[in-house]
Amino acid sequence: MEHRIANSLKILTEADKEACETVRVSENEPLSGKKRLFIESYGCQMNFSDSEIVASVMREAGFATTSDVNNADLIFLNTCSIRDNAEQKVRNRLKHLNYIKKNRPGTLIGVLGCMAERLKTKFLEEEKMVDIVTGPDAYRDLPRLVEEAGTGQKGVNVFLSREETYADISPIRLNSNSVSAFVSIMRGCDNMCSFCVVPFTRGRERSRDPYSIVKEAETLFHDGYREVTLLGQNVDSYKWTPEGEAVNGALGETPVNFANLLEMVAKVNPELRVRFSTSHPKDITDEVLYTIKKYDNICNHIHLPAQSGNTRVLEIMNRTYSREWYIDRIDAIRRILGEDCGVSHDMIAGFCTETEEEHRDSMSLMEYARFDFGYMFTYSERPGTLAAKKFADDIPEEVKKRRLAEIIEVQRRISLERNQRLLGTVQKVLIEGPSKKSDEDFSGRSDQNKMVVFPRENHKKGQYVDVLITDCNAATLLGRVLLPEPLLG
Ligand code: SAM
Ligand code: SF4
Repeated sequence: MEHRIANSLKILTEADKEACETVRVSENEPLSGKKRLFIESYGCQMNFSDSEIVASVMREAGFATTSDVNNADLIFLNTCSIRDNAEQKVRNRLKHLNYIKKNRPGTLIGVLGCMAERLKTKFLEEEKMVDIVTGPDAYRDLPRLVEEAGTGQKGVNVFLSREETYADISPIRLNSNSVSAFVSIMRGCDNMCSFCVVPFTRGRERSRDPYSIVKEAETLFHDGYREVTLLGQNVDSYKWTPEGEAVNGALGETPVNFANLLEMVAKVNPELRVRFSTSHPKDITDEVLYTIKKYDNICNHIHLPAQSGNTRVLEIMNRTYSREWYIDRIDAIRRILGEDCGVSHDMIAGFCTETEEEHRDSMSLMEYARFDFGYMFTYSERPGTLAAKKFADDIPEEVKKRRLAEIIEVQRRISLERNQRLLGTVQKVLIEGPSKKSDEDFSGRSDQNKMVVFPRENHKKGQYVDVLITDCNAATLLGRVLLPEPLLG
C-alpha cells in the first residue's frame, strides 16, 4: 500500500482513480463459433481507447472478446511505460500468464502498446512466453501477426507511422457504461519533455480527420451515449489540414484547429457533453477558453498538467513555459470561465536536481491555482529519455516520497475546500450508473468533472439531473436530486 501511495495519484474522483490505476479487461461478447480474445489494458485513457480499436480489428479476423483469461485463445496486454512501476505490473502479470499458457499450450500471448514499442524484439528475448509484440501504430497488422504466431513464428511489428490515426475504424466499446466514451482525436507527441517516454513510444504527433471525429460522436449519441471525451497527448496542438492543401482554400475547406473541433463536436447535439484531455499550458489559447464558454455542453473542466511550479525545473524538464506563463493561463481560465471552472493538474515530485525551495514552489503554485484535483507522482527515470541522458536521478527515493506526501497533503486540503464551496449549490449531473459503494445510490459527474453521489430513487442511467449538494469530502460531492417544480394552473 505504501508503495502505491508513494508512486502515484492521490486526490481523484472515483472515475479518475479508475482511469489512472485500474487495469481494464475486456467484456464477454456472444461467441457463436468465434475465437476468444482477452484484452487487458494498463495506463492512460489513450490505451483504453486503443484497446477498443484492437477489439474492432480482431473482430474482423473472427475473434470475440471475453472477460475470462483462463478460457482465451488469444491474450493481449496493452501496456504502459510511463513509469517503472507501470512496467513492473506487466512483468508480474506475464508470470501469471505463463502459468495459464502451460495449462493451455495453444494460447497465444501478445504485448501491445508503449512497452512493446520501447523494448521491441528485446521483449521476446526477455519474456519467452510472448508470441506477438505490436507497437501503437501497427494494430491493423494484428490479424497477420496472430496468424504468423499460430504457426510458431513470433510476430513483431513496431513500425511507427506519421499518418496512422485509425480514423476509419469503429471502436468496439469495452468496459463501457453506455453513457460516456473516449474518442481519440490525435496520436503521438511532438514535445520532448525531458522526463517523458511518450514521444519514443507513440511517435510523431498527427491529427485525425475532424469529420470522422464528428461522425463517431454522432453515432455515439445515436446509440444513447451522452458524453464524449476527446483524447490526445496535447489536444491544444490539434491541427488538421485538408489533404493536398498546404493553406486555406482550394478545396473549399479550411484547416481545423482545436477550438474549431470543439465547436464542431459541441454542435452534434446540445445534450451531448464534450470533455477533453490533455491540455498543454504552452498551447492552450483564449480561443479555446471562449469556445468552452460559448457552449453549455462543453464541460467547464481543464486538465492542465504543471509538472513543477519552479521555472528552472520547468526549463530542465523542457516544458517550454515558466511559472509565470502557467499562472497567466490559470488567470485566463478564471477570467474567461470563472472561479467555478474545474482545473486539475499533474505534478512530479523529486525531478533531477530539484531543491527544497523549488519543491515549495510547486506547492505554492498549487495554492495559487486552487486545483480541484491532481495526479501526483514521484519522478521515475525512463531509459532513453533526455533527462536520463543528461541528468543524474539524484534525489533520494525517501526524499521524493516525502515531497510527494507533502504535495498530496496540500492537494487534499485544497480539494476539500474547493468541494466545500459547492455546498448548497445545484449541480447538473449526468448519471453514469450505480455508485461504487452502494447499489442504492447513483453516481455521475458535474460539469466541472466532480464525482457526485445521490440516492438512486427512480432516476435512470444516462439522464441529466439537478443535484442539491448537501455534503462532501475531498474526492466526492454528496446530495439529492431536485425534482422539477410542478407547473401551476
Ligand atoms: N501529455 C500529457 C502532458 O503533457 O501532461 C500527459 C502525459 S503522461 C501520460 C501523464 C503524466 O505522467 C504526465 O503529465 C507526468 O506528470 C507523468 N509522468 C510522465 N513521465 C513521468 C516520469 N518519468 N516520472 C514520473 N511521472 C511521469
Ligand atoms: Fe510526454 Fe510532454 Fe508529450 Fe505530455 S507533452 S506526452 S509529458 S512529452
